[in-house]
Amino acid sequence: MRLLDKVALVTGGAGDIGAAQARLFAGERARVVVIDLMEELGHGVASGIASGGGSALFLPLDVSEERDWEIAVRASVDRFGSIDVLVNNAGIYQTEPVEHVDAILWERMMAVNASGAFLGTRSVVPVMREGGGGSIVNVASTTALVGSHRGGAYGASKAALLSLTRHTAIQHAADGIRANTLVPGPVETGMIAENLASEEGRATSIARVPLGRLAVPSEIAYAALYLASDASSYVTGSHLVVDGGLTAR
Ligand code: NAD
Repeated sequence: MRLLDKVALVTGGAGDIGAAQARLFAGERARVVVIDLMEELGHGVASGIASGGGSALFLPLDVSEERDWEIAVRASVDRFGSIDVLVNNAGIYQTEPVEHVDAILWERMMAVNASGAFLGTRSVVPVMREGGGGSIVNVASTTALVGSHRGGAYGASKAALLSLTRHTAIQHAADGIRANTLVPGPVETGMIAENLASEEGRATSIARVPLGRLAVPSEIAYAALYLASDASSYVTGSHLVVDGGLTAR
């Protein structure tokens, strides 16, 4: 019952890692708001939680849209009365070498991965402050910490979260609001399915990881639970790397 009486918003909650977070949080007694563009999957996650005895609401919203965040906050407070946890987990992924990233791809990556988290943070802060505090978890990626032969826009959009997190942490510590970044390495999800489709692609991904395997979504969800809950009450402005040792090399 590590999230008893807490209301937790999970963006990208219809996706693999987000759904794992939503289900785990609900199991720890949070009332969960699942936010995603994918309506059928999102409803499925929320109704699965409800049929297991938990409390969940699905909102089909776009995190990159300012107006959608007004709806998200209003609907969450109307239904559950507060917002205690926000996991900015929604994300899009595409890897192109920097030279081949066009302005449209760059801006879309920034709009969803970076601005989505910024808009979410800005929207929930007044509610969290009024409620006496909260925890914001920004889901980045090891590509925010290290370079690669492919990629650039995705990594840069995720690196923005490290700074957003630190500024949020400093500016809202006195409000009782903590902010941290969660930094996963490669996780077995639909997002990177294309990279894993061939045997060679899978072997290349695994070869980078000292633990010799990809993560499963629940391993990221447990780290999010730690940052979301009072178990991490003295942790703010920090980042937690969950990458099987990838960035320790
Ligand atoms: P996923 O594709 O299964 O889930 C991402 C979810 O975000 C999807 O359900 C998608 O519909 C949603 N989403 C995308 N744009 C949105 C928008 N504008 N508004 C609302 N929802 C939107 O991928 P995942 O692997 O579960 O990824 C979750 C998070 O973890 C992402 O931020 C991703 O960048 C990050 N991450 C993933 C990996 C990995 O290897 N899978 C590694 C590091 C970090």
